[in-house]
Amino acid sequence: MRIIAYFSRETSGQQPGNPLDSLKSSSPQSGLGIRECGIPHDGRSGPTGLIHTVIRSLPSSIIRIEYWPVDISITDPFVVATGARTVAENVFLRVTLASGAQGYGEAAPFPEVGGETRESCLFTLHQLSKTVLGRSAADYKEVGHFLSEQAPSHPAARCGLETAVIDAYCQTANIPMWQLWGGTDVHARETDITIPIADLDKTVALASGWYGKGFRLFKMKVGKDVEGDIRRLEAVHRALPGISFIGDGNQGFSRQDCLAFAQGVKRFGGTMVLLEQPVLRDDLDSMAAIRRETGIPVAADESVRSLADAQEVVARGAADYINIKIMKTGVIEAMEIVAFTKASRLKLMIGGMLETRVAMGCSFSLVLGLGGFEVLDLDTPLLLASDPITGGYRYAGSYLQPWSGPGLDMKPAPSSNVIAIE
Ligand SMILES: [Mg+2]
Repeated sequence: MRIIAYFSRETSGQQPGNPLDSLKSSSPQSGLGIRECGIPHDGRSGPTGLIHTVIRSLPSSIIRIEYWPVDISITDPFVVATGARTVAENVFLRVTLASGAQGYGEAAPFPEVGGETRESCLFTLHQLSKTVLGRSAADYKEVGHFLSEQAPSHPAARCGLETAVIDAYCQTANIPMWQLWGGTDVHARETDITIPIADLDKTVALASGWYGKGFRLFKMKVGKDVEGDIRRLEAVHRALPGISFIGDGNQGFSRQDCLAFAQGVKRFGGTMVLLEQPVLRDDLDSMAAIRRETGIPVAADESVRSLADAQEVVARGAADYINIKIMKTGVIEAMEIVAFTKASRLKLMIGGMLETRVAMGCSFSLVLGLGGFEVLDLDTPLLLASDPITGGYRYAGSYLQPWSGPGLDMKPAPSSNVIAIE
């Protein structure tokens, strides 16, 4: 195994600093929860010898993993009940197979939600990449489970690596990623649009702008100020006919706050289709009570960071919807939660952190491939000031248009600050 940091001549652009430096400075890593693992690991043959050499030379063997930081400005400050962001500080990944096929992935940590940072993602990827070299991309499910065991508390980092492995495998198989999951529901799908917490005028201006582009389902970030939240929704309701709301509290409400909020929206005649994570993630009793007392469906977002969490939410009757996010769980565990949610007869929503079209394309592949998703919250690339990706799915107003090329069919802009492990 070799670790190479190199300067690419492909671009001049922004150089956010060598991630190796930040790794050095992030030294007390013992609290990161990454387990030590042997390197390299092909899952079958041990670290050395003839069998290992043979497996590494199979066309689907992973021979190189590259990752690099990417900063993307957010057009308007993304303010939610638990925090605020103005720049998406993400990581892109590229996995190369022995066949020459390449796949891409993205880690989009959201510190206030998942506790991961870009620095922790870079460090985790540094560790995890070593364990994946030599494995076959065709074993993407086993790789996903293995990564979960190795870094259970680093789902965004794992997700980026998993996505890139799956994309590379689909490139080799020459199928779109949604085909890998079954391709059961392949058509254009409408997404909501997120309106962050802002003052009244800004809220109406933002919502009106999106309304003009065809959006009709507004996911309003709420949970800091009940009366202010009601006033913001009422102003949007009065300005824009024929719209519906999702109220996303990001754990910011108390039970009583949320009941008052729902009552206030009802009073002015607003249509609230969903209350998302109104209260603290562990307060499943309040989630259940809010469902019962408001009659409005409740979506569990922060409450579900694993299959075990989803099982608990179902057992406690705490939600009508599970909000799937690959950054919370990684890709393979997200699919297990989808299957469990369907079997439990709850409904499916899918969303993301502050992601570009790479991670969101992977989520959209689950929508198209698995079917059964009722509410799409796949809008974050639209909130970013630029799109550093070519190819892949497209937005047409409020609709996501499927793609037909292999894998995600995307390419991120080249970077000058890449770490390569091979
Ligand atoms: Mg949410």
